[in-house]
Amino acid sequence: MKDTDCLVVGAGVAGLTAAFELKKRGVEVQVLEARERVGGRTWSGTLDGAEVDWGGEWIGHGQPRVYKLIKELGLRTFTTYDRGEKVLEVRGRTSTYKGTIPWMAPWKLIQIQAGIWWLDSLAKGLSTEEPWAHARAAGWDATTLDATRRAVMWSADARGVMDAAMRTIFGAESGELSLLHALAYIRSAGSLNNLIATEGGFQHDRILGGAQSISLAMAASLGDERVHLGRPVVQITHNTAGVVVRDARGEEWRARRVVVAVPIAIGARIVFEPALPPLRAQLMERSYMGAAVKCFVRYEKAFWRDRGFSGEAASADGIVSVTFDQCSDDGSTPCLLAFIGGRSARTWHQRDPEARKQLVLDRLAAYFGPEARAPIAYAEVDWCTERWSGGGPIALFPTGTLSTHGSAMRTPIGSIHWAGTETARECMGFIEGAVESGLRVADEVAQG
Ligand SMILES: Cc1cc2nc3c(=O)[nH]c(=O)nc-3n(C[C@H](O)[C@H](O)[C@H](O)COP(=O)(O)OP(=O)(O)OC[C@H]3O[C@@H](n4cnc5c(N)ncnc54)[C@H](O)[C@@H]3O)c2cc1C
Repeated sequence: MKDTDCLVVGAGVAGLTAAFELKKRGVEVQVLEARERVGGRTWSGTLDGAEVDWGGEWIGHGQPRVYKLIKELGLRTFTTYDRGEKVLEVRGRTSTYKGTIPWMAPWKLIQIQAGIWWLDSLAKGLSTEEPWAHARAAGWDATTLDATRRAVMWSADARGVMDAAMRTIFGAESGELSLLHALAYIRSAGSLNNLIATEGGFQHDRILGGAQSISLAMAASLGDERVHLGRPVVQITHNTAGVVVRDARGEEWRARRVVVAVPIAIGARIVFEPALPPLRAQLMERSYMGAAVKCFVRYEKAFWRDRGFSGEAASADGIVSVTFDQCSDDGSTPCLLAFIGGRSARTWHQRDPEARKQLVLDRLAAYFGPEARAPIAYAEVDWCTERWSGGGPIALFPTGTLSTHGSAMRTPIGSIHWAGTETARECMGFIEGAVESGLRVADEVAQG
């Protein structure tokens, strides 16, 4: 049995931020991570010499904590390539546009704007602390985003464009999303525009060396003696005096406090002894992960840039949701990203690998030209097949969950504290949210 002040379960950005912060405050901390790597939903690698982020990647305006952390860790950012025309695909037809909102027939455009305005204005009334406490929370939680938006968005094409955004943001279809969850998410991001915009929004910057560098740097500072990989936590026995945590190797760890910093839907796999209060247990059991696949295509030349495209495309048609330029900061490693979210992502693994690649190349060729059919390398990561994430980018709360169980989101239970981006008050679902939750929980533990 190993003893420490505080155990942290999960070495993603949230868990490592908590541990990093607690160590600075003189609290002895140990981190147990299921995977053989740190970073969780941030995971960086290379494809034929190009640095790629298989998971979380962008940071942007309105995310002060992650920029501060990056600076403290000696890391650097660069601006996302955003020059040139963007492409919109609706019903197999492509058109080009500049800025954040695509060009469409004016009456459809008005409906997209109306949909954004409607969501933003409802979201503004929510508190970031307790969105579930709003007077209309139960009503909004009883319905889906798709069912409600039809009153302001009667054009199927306008709804299709919003669907592409929702598949990217949530990894889900608009018909799966509780309206309350969508509104809480928008509120915690500041606005829907922040969520979708590149310049001035959440996609403004990328991190040199990849987003996983944040976790790698924090883990290095904590040292191997504090960060233990390949240690899935299977059981937490707890009372008000402390916890005993058992990992899958059968080793036991004792501490005064434990921070559980795993995705909320994955936390339900851990056996808690005694059982957690029903509200908390059901919150974890009812949530589930969105579905996301990131496909990277490496080219000899950035032909889309030469043709005046930014590399950004959005499709209302449901296979590839969005694409982005993924060249290095100096443009020297030409690469495109195709992001697949929602329904298509959930069944992606059922398709033949060669068919998957061809589907992606076909869409890229339709958006940017026939050169897209001749890559020098291709790779993809399907987050639904990642055992310790169970999907991505984020956990979803089905209708009737947040309004009834939301109050259990951050409330500590005896010696157990909850972190993870899903518990964040600001930028919930993002790397920034993971940092926010790590800082909040470090305060809770240090003060307790
Ligand atoms: C495809 C994709 C694209 C994304 N794009 C962006 C983006 O561009 N910008 C952005 O800000 N965010 C993005 N995100 C979201 C962002 O990556 C997450 O919000 C953030 O990384 C979550 O951090 P976390 O620490 O809360 O959770 P995680 O990163 O999920 O960390 C949890 C850790 O717990 C571990 N774990 C799970 N179960 C156990 C157990 N029983 N015992 C021990 N350890 C366990 C996991 O292995 C993991 O390391 C994206 C995510 C995905 C998947």
